[in-house]
Amino acid sequence: MPLNILFAARPERWTTYEKPLRAALKDEGIDAHLSTDIAPEDVDYIIYAPNSTLQDFTPYIRAKAVLNLWAGVENITGNPTLKIPLARMVDPGLTKGMVEWVTGHVMRYHLGLDTDILKTDATWVPRTPPLAQERNITILGLGALGTAVSETLVSLGFNVTGWSRSPKDVPGVTCLNGAKGLKQALSTAEIAVLLLPNTSATENTLNAETLALMPKGAFIINPGRGPLIDDDALLAALDSGQIAHATLDVFRIEPLPKDHPYWAHPKVTVTPHIAAETRATTASKVIVDNIRRGQAQEEFLHLVDRNLGY
Ligand code: NAP
Repeated sequence: MPLNILFAARPERWTTYEKPLRAALKDEGIDAHLSTDIAPEDVDYIIYAPNSTLQDFTPYIRAKAVLNLWAGVENITGNPTLKIPLARMVDPGLTKGMVEWVTGHVMRYHLGLDTDILKTDATWVPRTPPLAQERNITILGLGALGTAVSETLVSLGFNVTGWSRSPKDVPGVTCLNGAKGLKQALSTAEIAVLLLPNTSATENTLNAETLALMPKGAFIINPGRGPLIDDDALLAALDSGQIAHATLDVFRIEPLPKDHPYWAHPKVTVTPHIAAETRATTASKVIVDNIRRGQAQEEFLHLVDRNLGY
């Protein structure tokens, strides 16, 4: 009997994913009926995007797992009808995209690239760009993405501090955790990169109090989630000069409303939630590996802890 695998995401995703998923299933030797339309009681696995029309999991009585297409799971962890294992997306393609996006924006701040790119007059003022070893960067969140970003920044020579909920050991990175660790992590953060999930515990991690702990003139890069930052506190910190500039990819409301002060703020760069996208080819292999694991009664990879919310 083939496995019934439901693809529950927006139609444009099906167009992107159908072929790579079928190829990955074939490569794993899994006999599957993959479709966007299967009777709920017959479904074995659900490949899922939280903005799908499927929001009530109650009729999916024999499904073994929900396999999320996204890294962020805040829109599904609280769903009371979801009682089976939920795996989030950890995709090598997405991780690579995030590493490249963050490194690019770090380099913009580190080298002061705007000084030359935005210059409009004919002045000739030579300066010596700093070296990476003279720059302290703090990564808030040392998970799949934060760790990969930290490793790349370390390999470039930056002084990297990372902060997480539980203790971590990442070679070359000063790893801190807990409330005291956050204070220490921010005290040296000339550039802070936010790669935390959106949970009740991480909301407003950067607020008036914690922004004040950062060195004056620090930079912020947020590809994590909008609610990690208290927007009013950030705007005040930008206006006072405590924070020199912020690059924000994610927001409490997306798309960012046209009248939001971030759009026109001279010290804010807005990017439209593009830091890292799941890549269908690599992500399909991850999903199919989890289906293989489920069938072999092995533990699923990348399971979400519903109590912690990530
Ligand atoms: P992850 O592997 O789950 O890592 C999350 C990290 O945050 C872990 O190090 C975790 O600590 C830490 N953390 C969680 N709660 C914390 C708390 N209360 N205090 C301190 N640290 C805490 O997640 P990921 O795959 O790296 O992804 C991170 C986030 O990036 C996602 O949740 C998503 O919101 C965002 N994202 C954005 C884009 C984009 O395009 N902008 C794309 C993909 C993902 P422990 O290590 O101790 O568990």
